[in-house]
Amino acid sequence: MIIAIDGPAGAGKSTVCKILAHRLGFVYLDTGAMYRAVAWAFKECPGGDGRQIEADPDQNQVMEMLAQTPLIFSLKQNRLEIYCGDRLLSEELRGPQISEAASRISRLPAVRQFLVGWQRKLAEQGTSVVAEGRDTATVVFPEADLKVYLTADLRTRAARRSAEYDEKGVKVPLGEMQKRIQQRDEADSKRDHSPMRPAEGAILLDTSHLEIEDVVDRLRGLAQNPAGTDSTAHKEL
Ligand code: C5P
Repeated sequence: MIIAIDGPAGAGKSTVCKILAHRLGFVYLDTGAMYRAVAWAFKECPGGDGRQIEADPDQNQVMEMLAQTPLIFSLKQNRLEIYCGDRLLSEELRGPQISEAASRISRLPAVRQFLVGWQRKLAEQGTSVVAEGRDTATVVFPEADLKVYLTADLRTRAARRSAEYDEKGVKVPLGEMQKRIQQRDEADSKRDHSPMRPAEGAILLDTSHLEIEDVVDRLRGLAQNPAGTDSTAHKEL
């Protein structure tokens, strides 16, 4: 079974998809981490260009870097692991700078094609998968058994992201966070290739006034009964 969950930053995708995949015993495929890893590698690895990532990254240069860089995606205990050579990438992918760099690099069609190939290959290895990102239901797994577009109002999403950064000791004021998320939403939804948007047949779920456990429960209910009819909880597009 494939569950594909898309939506903007701060909608709660990562948190709920991690829990949902764990409870269902499915693979959790965080496709955003893969775009972050390419952005990180372009900045840090030999063959990359740290300066370019600040502006418009050049597709040929990024692809050349990918050809020279041992960036490896694999599954371990139902979770995605990303290595650059011997180095396991984790927290270094989570900073605000990498979020923005990932958004810039994700506009490049060759990068998307490269990562979509990996995502499909990884899904073939796991019997069942919860995939989350911006295009998992529209492009990567259009035939997914369950497609969901998770969203929340901008203020809520910014507050959630600010709190997450706060926990890691990174202070980003709410207004600034709101601005950054809005810019990233706009870039992600207006790009030419695989823009972020609800997939055809996706269930729209607004998490603004829901607790994490409520969202997980609803998704779990939908996974068990994808044709469910609880129209108060969601609406099919
Ligand atoms: O989900 P996350 O915030 O980790 O994603 C970082 C960036 O990667 C997004 O802003 C988006 O530009 C890009 N992305 C994408 N397609 C995906 C997942 C992430 O374009 N499936």
